[in-house]
Amino acid sequence: MNIDPVREWQIATVTSVNDESPRVKLFKLDLANETKFRAGQYFDIRLTAPDGYQAQRSYSVTSSPEDSNSIELAIELIADGEVSAYFHEIVKPDDQIELRGPIGGHFTLSPNFTKPVLLVAGGSGIAPIISMLRHRRSSTRIAPTVLMFSVRTEADALFAQELEDMAQENPNLHIIIALTRSESETPDSKQRETRRIDRSMIDSAITKLAEQPARAYVCGGTDFVESIGNHLLDIGLAYHDIRTERFGP
Ligand SMILES: Cc1cc2nc3c(=O)[nH]c(=O)nc-3n(C[C@H](O)[C@H](O)[C@H](O)COP(=O)(O)OP(=O)(O)OC[C@H]3O[C@@H](n4cnc5c(N)ncnc54)[C@H](O)[C@@H]3O)c2cc1C
Repeated sequence: MNIDPVREWQIATVTSVNDESPRVKLFKLDLANETKFRAGQYFDIRLTAPDGYQAQRSYSVTSSPEDSNSIELAIELIADGEVSAYFHEIVKPDDQIELRGPIGGHFTLSPNFTKPVLLVAGGSGIAPIISMLRHRRSSTRIAPTVLMFSVRTEADALFAQELEDMAQENPNLHIIIALTRSESETPDSKQRETRRIDRSMIDSAITKLAEQPARAYVCGGTDFVESIGNHLLDIGLAYHDIRTERFGP
């Protein structure tokens, strides 16, 4: 049956649930219909209670678009959160979930974009960005890229090992993890700094690109995205070259 996955809801089956950090679980979902998406896009999830009450939220895809039959989502548990708590406390393998998508076109990055790129993620804002990096990993054309990833503590650095492996195998990819609430457990690592991402940290990070980034992608909470966006305007990036995705307050 042909459906329009952007408008119509489809049923996905949960195939695995795994802890990625103390507050984030990864959910793999098999899609009933093959659904092509681009790295950076998201899906809407709809939960329906027995009395008909519905709650709908958006979640970015973390997996690479090379697989259009399944998707991975990274869902952070939000205190008093309706949908994130349901996922963390109730959802298990073989459960069926209603979803619709892919959605979003502005916050997408194709491996065909070969100019220097700056990626900036705050917490679970790494979700669409890891999809971009996973997609690029499988491509022979990898642009100079810097990822600045702000997390509270080392344990909150989602996908840390995979990101380190990517940076090891690709000299064009530089990763800087900013820990806002704790000292690095690996103090020798050049990739860890204990501070918030500010203008001077961005200035220093982009020297690794050898030239000004042609585009920046910023994802996280609203305050984080606004603050980083302002720094990027200050360093001279054009408004339309700063692509942003806000996850919440
Ligand atoms: C385009 C898009 C993509 C998104 N992708 C992801 C993703 O990949 N992973 C992910 O975990 N979330 C993602 N989000 C956020 C997600 O859609 C929900 O908003 C989030 O899971 C909270 O929903 P909830 O029902 O648990 O909380 P709610 O019941 O909606 O809110 C409970 C309380 O928490 C506050 N709150 C809501 N969201 C947040 C937040 N993000 N941080 C702190 N406080 C919050 C609310 O103001 C409220 O006070 C995305 C949002 C958008 C718009």
